[in-house]
Parts: sequence; structure tokens; C-alpha cells
Amino acid sequence: MRAAVYARVSTEEQAKHGYSLDEQIDACSSRATALGADEILVFRDEAISGAIMERPELNRLRELIAQGEINLLVIRDPDRFSRKLVDQLILTEEFEQAGVQLEFIDFTWQDTPEGRLFYSMKGAVSEYEREKIRERMTRGKIQKAKTGGIPINFTLYGYDYSPDTGIVSINKREAEVVKYIFERFISFTSAAAITNELNEKGIPTKKNTGFWYRQTVRQILLNPAYMGEWPYRRNTDNPIIIPVPAIVSRDVWNKAQAILAEARRLWGSYGKEQYLLSGIVTCSDCGTPMGGVKAKYWGRTVRGYTCRKSKSTNRIPGCTPSKIINADSLENIVWENIIELYSDPERLFTEIRGQLPTDKSTKKEIAKLEKQLQDAERGRSQLIEVISSGLVELDDDTKQKLGKLKQRKESLERRLKELTSELRKTEFTRSDFNLIRQVSKNFIQEVDCLPFEIKQQLVRTTISQVIISGRVQGTYHKPNDLPGVEITLNINELLLDSLRVVANDGRRH
Ligand SMILES: [Zn+2]
Repeated sequence: MRAAVYARVSTEEQAKHGYSLDEQIDACSSRATALGADEILVFRDEAISGAIMERPELNRLRELIAQGEINLLVIRDPDRFSRKLVDQLILTEEFEQAGVQLEFIDFTWQDTPEGRLFYSMKGAVSEYEREKIRERMTRGKIQKAKTGGIPINFTLYGYDYSPDTGIVSINKREAEVVKYIFERFISFTSAAAITNELNEKGIPTKKNTGFWYRQTVRQILLNPAYMGEWPYRRNTDNPIIIPVPAIVSRDVWNKAQAILAEARRLWGSYGKEQYLLSGIVTCSDCGTPMGGVKAKYWGRTVRGYTCRKSKSTNRIPGCTPSKIINADSLENIVWENIIELYSDPERLFTEIRGQLPTDKSTKKEIAKLEKQLQDAERGRSQLIEVISSGLVELDDDTKQKLGKLKQRKESLERRLKELTSELRKTEFTRSDFNLIRQVSKNFIQEVDCLPFEIKQQLVRTTISQVIISGRVQGTYHKPNDLPGVEITLNINELLLDSLRVVANDGRRH
């Protein structure tokens, strides 16, 4: 088994704590040997800040792991990867995806609030579109693309690709279809009409699903690869243009783009936009949900939320005249509320307590149950007494009665047990509160670098609804000009449970 050991010290750490690289490497190496490693590769980054992801040795290690060269990675704690929790999580995910066994020698997740947060966030990150993370983190592919090679999985209609040589060539049959699509489109046939034509002619698709969608045709029209410039990592800030054989001329491609741009201008709503609050905003004036909408304002795209809906498909088509509110402003207010909640653990603590059954009512019910249980027991022992004295015969009827009393006793006992444990849960202590405070603090630290999906998850677990009442005078495009906004917090089971796990773990240690 081949193991890797990674160690890092920053200048401050060296000065402050006298942490040494050799110490880390020794400890990690002996753990690797104990775990059965017969070859150990050592990676060390010295005097480099923990906040920087660009570290030469770490990157070399990542390349090797991506190539499947490493079976086991031993490291002192996740903090060695990076000081940022998000980076730690992303790297952990990346390594585990590559099938590497990770071993931390100085980190057991149950022992610290940081450890518990690390593992609860870890689950969320795994959910978070693995594809996206892989793409963002895989340096090797970008390197290959920069030198003009084609990274893995080039599957594009119109082309053949050999993974062994990395060579892209034109697929003649498919290229004819691509040409046809462009020619029809620049002679003003709509993408929808072209789609129908392709389906009527029975032209096979790339994956041979046998059916063309308008979106597929649109994607072909939008892809600059067909004029010879394939954009790798197109949806990122730094796409890399890789030359491929052209199927249509630059002139034809540009004409198609002009028509597409005109269509976008006319319809205004094309393109994927992310709305943090979709699904939780309601208009109190018409009582219907408000969804995301885009509009042009002085040539600028403005996002909004509206209760306006198509009359043909909705019983209540929303307010008239249509009511739109500024999305940025609303999202800011809601996000500020979440930050405020987690910045004030005292309030969070109170909110959670408020959701739990109060001690008083639970205690009252427990007393009532205990009384009922006593009655049931008394009834049963009285019956047994008369049977044994011979006054009553032990016939089927009596047997049934005894069975019923036994059942009742058991069900009362079960309920009593439930309530007692429920009561125990409500008995928060000072140390539980300290733990909640620690968890909140960690959330707040990471709040500015959370990806959209995780932000949305946080919004959905923390807030149950946002109600908008009234409308603004004039235009909604002005930021910070909002009508009545009422935010209802959603301290639900999910949030409760995760905090309880933290609290209960704390009690055990
Ligand atoms: Zn409305």
C-alpha cells in the first residue's frame, strides 16, 4: 500500500508554537506504517500561509491522488489543508471521491465543536453537486487544456473524439446536421421549428435517444466550437478556448448569434438565474406565491420577485397591475436576518426552547399517565385476586379481559417513557448553550464564502416564509425600496436535531 504524508507550517506557527515539519512528518509516517503502508511519500509546504490554496506540494499531492497513485493519506488534522473550513471540506471531498483513505492523527470529530461542525458540513458539501466541485478542483485538466490538448470526455454532436490520442475530428454525418441547423436558423426558421423538422426526418441524436429537444438545438446554435473555438470551462470566469475543426464559418455563426440575441432582447427572460428565496415568498395581497422574474431597466438586467402569473394556467393570476419587488434588496434583508439569528445564539437558544414542549405541560401529562398506569395495575391485580380466590372462573372472557388490561398497561408505560425522554431533551444546560454558541460562531465565520446551494439550504431550513404586503410607489428597480416584509423563522426539526446532536454529544464528554 502506498501512503502519502502531508505537513505544513506557516511562518506564524513556527514562531509562535515552535511547530515543526519534522515532528508532523514523523508522527504521520509512523501512523502510516502502523496502518500497513509499505511505501511513504512525503509532501511538505513550509512557511506558507494556511489561507492560500495555491501551495506547490499540496497541488503535487492532488495531482497524484487524482491519478490514483495514493491509497492512504495521513495528516495531522484538516487544518493542515487550509485554515478555511470550506477549503478543508472541498479537499476532503475530492480525496474521498478519488478513493483515498484519509487518516487524521490529531483530530477526532466527537471531541470539539469544530470537529462536529466539520462533519455536519461535510455531509452538505457531498450533496453539493459533486460534478461542480470536481470540475473546479481538477487542475490537471486545465493544465492539459492550456497546452492545447482536449481534456477528458469531449462529447459534442458533430465530432468524434479519441480519448487515447486526445484528437478531435469531424463526424461527417453529424456535421451535415449541424450545418443544416445553422442554415435553417439564419434563414429565420425558429429553433422550435428546426427541432420538429429533425424529429420528423428521424435524424438520430448523439446519444441515440431518437428525439430532439429545442434546448439541444439551441445549445448547438450557441456553441462557438462549431466555428472552431471550443470554450472549456465555459460557465466559469476563466474559460479556455481550445481550437477544434470548424463546421460552420465564423460569418454564419455570428449571424446566428445576432438572431439569438435579438430573441433574448424581445423575450427578456432567457438564461438561468438563481433566486435565493424561490418557493418561500408569498404576496399577502393576492395570496399567491411570488417567483423570480427578470426585466431590463436602462439596459441593465434587474432581478425581481412577482406574484404575476399566466392567466391561462392559473386560477389566481396575481395582483393587477403587476407587482414586482427588487430581488437583491429582498434577498439582502432575508440573508441579514439569518446572519442576525446566528450572530445571536441567545435568541436562537430561546427560539429553540420555545419550540420544545414546555416542561410544565409535559410534567402535567406525565403525572396524569402515572395515575392511569396505577389504575390499570390495580384493576389487573384485583382481577387476578378474584380469580385465584375462585370467585370467578378463568374462562375465555376473563382471559381476554386480563389481556386487554395488560395491553393498556404496556401502552401507558411506552408513552410515559417517551414523555420522560422528551422532558430530558428540554432540559438544556449552560454547557449546551455554549455549544450552540460555538456552532453559530463557526457558521458566521464562513458566511461570506458559502456557495449558493448551501446558502439556499440554510435559508430553507431557517426560514419558513416571507410575506410581502403592499407595493412600492413608482418603480421597483430602485434598491432598498421595499413594501412590507414579514419573515417567519422556521426553527424546525432539522435545525433542532442538528443542534441537539451537538448538545447531546457535548454532554457525553
Ligand atoms: Zn399579489
